Amino acid sequence: MKKINLAIALGATCAGCDVAILDLNEKILEVFDLVDFKFWPTAMDFKIDDLKNLKDGEVDVGIYHGSIRTTEDAEIAKILRKKSKVVVAFGACANFGGIPSLANMPYEKSMFDVVYKDVPSMDNPEGTVPQTSITIKGTELTLPGIRKDADALDAVIDIDYYVPGCPPMVPLIEQVVEVLKVFASTGQLPPKGTVIADTKTLCEECGRTKPEEISFKDFISPQEVQEIDPDLCLIPQGIICMGPATRAGCDALCTKMNVGCRGCLGPTDKVKDHGLKMISALTSLLDVDVEEDMSEEELHKVVDKIPDPLGTFYRFTYGKSLIYNLHSEEEIK
Ligand code: SF4
Ligand code: SF4
Ligand code: SF4
Repeated sequence: MKKINLAIALGATCAGCDVAILDLNEKILEVFDLVDFKFWPTAMDFKIDDLKNLKDGEVDVGIYHGSIRTTEDAEIAKILRKKSKVVVAFGACANFGGIPSLANMPYEKSMFDVVYKDVPSMDNPEGTVPQTSITIKGTELTLPGIRKDADALDAVIDIDYYVPGCPPMVPLIEQVVEVLKVFASTGQLPPKGTVIADTKTLCEECGRTKPEEISFKDFISPQEVQEIDPDLCLIPQGIICMGPATRAGCDALCTKMNVGCRGCLGPTDKVKDHGLKMISALTSLLDVDVEEDMSEEELHKVVDKIPDPLGTFYRFTYGKSLIYNLHSEEEIK
């Protein structure tokens, strides 16, 4: 069996996606038998020139994780594309823009002011912010520029396969290993555009019972809940769960632990906008009888209990949302 040339490159990442690959435990040995690593700077001593110096198309499979936050992230993605026969977007950041893309929301202050000056935990009396150049021993060096927005990988390059999740879960990475095995022995790959996860919704994977008619009167923060029924769907218990709008494939990791799904596998193929789908599902479930008896002020109070609506409904997918597309007029470079 011919070994596969593999490159793993990264953009704006927390490196959790790298750790997820190492979470394969002993299965990682299968990966080492299957591939020749041509580039994986997080795990081995690779420099960007090692990727640049490969021949075009020399990499069989290029994996990219992290969002496109800096000009350097975009540049690395383009080099990976040129060197790779197929490219895989790995993790929620590369698939949808992920958590970094929440900063794309138009805000009255600049991102740097919020992050480096305003957050209560910041100790920065001189107001230092990241620079675009640095002078070392009289030589000025240009540093990677921060792009206007943090984007998903497909904003800058063509992608062949998608592996969502924050990070992708071991069963999904095992599916990727199986794909690599078939590729190594037969040269065959799944159809372009395949998402390596399930096609159904998380609700169909979650073992909790959904009553025929779900309704609820209030949103409750998980820390306010005295006792959670381990078998009943979380929504009638007042806990927001993104399951109705989210792709299955994680074996309902969070809901099994009494935690509402936060949507890290992104929407199913049938859903255009992850957050809007979830908002529409929740509003249709709000107890209608109670709703009719409520004043507008009381209704507002219920809705106001949703902490950080943007982060709740678009935690991982703001970079692919309709709202982002509407306000993002600047051409992506
Ligand atoms: S998808 Fe999650 S684990 Fe992977 S880089 Fe983004 S934030 Fe980190
Ligand atoms: S809404 Fe959440 S808790 Fe309820 S069935 Fe769907 S995934 Fe499970
Ligand atoms: S339950 Fe939701 S947030 Fe948790 S791992 Fe699965 S898709 Fe991600």
